[in-house]
Amino acid sequence: QLPLIYAITPTYSRPVQKAELTRLANTFRQVARLHWILVEDSAVGTELVSRFAAGLGRAGGPPCTHLHVLTPRRYKRPGQPRATEQRNAGLAWIRQRHQHLAAPQPGVLFFADDDNTYSLELFEEMRTTSKVSVWPVGLVGGRRYERPIVEKGKVVGWYTGWRAGRPFAIDMAGFAVSLQVILSNPKAVFRRHGSQPGMQESDFLRQITTMEELEPKASNCTKVLVWHTRTEKVNLANEPKYHLDNIRIEV
Ligand code: UDP
Ligand code: MN
Repeated sequence: QLPLIYAITPTYSRPVQKAELTRLANTFRQVARLHWILVEDSAVGTELVSRFAAGLGRAGGPPCTHLHVLTPRRYKRPGQPRATEQRNAGLAWIRQRHQHLAAPQPGVLFFADDDNTYSLELFEEMRTTSKVSVWPVGLVGGRRYERPIVEKGKVVGWYTGWRAGRPFAIDMAGFAVSLQVILSNPKAVFRRHGSQPGMQESDFLRQITTMEELEPKASNCTKVLVWHTRTEKVNLANEPKYHLDNIRIEV
């Protein structure tokens, strides 16, 4: 049986949320053995996401676990890393799910932001992760792409336009971790304190791996299979100030 891929997606309420999640679901539904962990940035699960998650199964979508945890208000500021609590909630759920199993099923986990673009090939590549695998990311860091630099099959450095001194100069979309590594490092989490902007990935990876251990994917990190796309903020300038339509409609 194929290793199960766990995709942890933090998500928050905004006009484009359902469109983003729909696009992501349409990618994930084409991937065999994928379990989607959708973690809302909210104090309670919203109706929109609850309905969306429940409807996935009926529409032939991926199995989905819907969680929620609110980001404290003090962290909702520019320069603060995003979605730390949500990714940790996903990690905690996975660890709890496996705590009673002596030998966990083979699995791979990755962090799938709701606005990125994922090729189907990416999942084939990450599926064979034995510890931690890495690959290039397109449209990120003020460049067309960033990538791990590979020599003789080993990662020796980073092609990046931004804070090149980071121990793992890689975006959240650029790596996957085996379930085994997540379970054998039960304390590894994303940290806010002591984790400067852009250092979340580095700080997390430092807790679980070393440069020498990294497994380069995507033809020795020469292919872009994921893009750090960002959705334009939607123009609602003509939205009426009070409700004019005679139906309520979810968008
Ligand atoms: N996110 C969140 N709460 C927030 C802001 C973002 O849960 O307050 C989620 C968002 O839905 C996405 C991830 O965190 O899945 C990364 O956020 P974003 O895409 O805005 O970051 P960037 O593209 O700037 O890296
Ligand atoms: Mn994004």
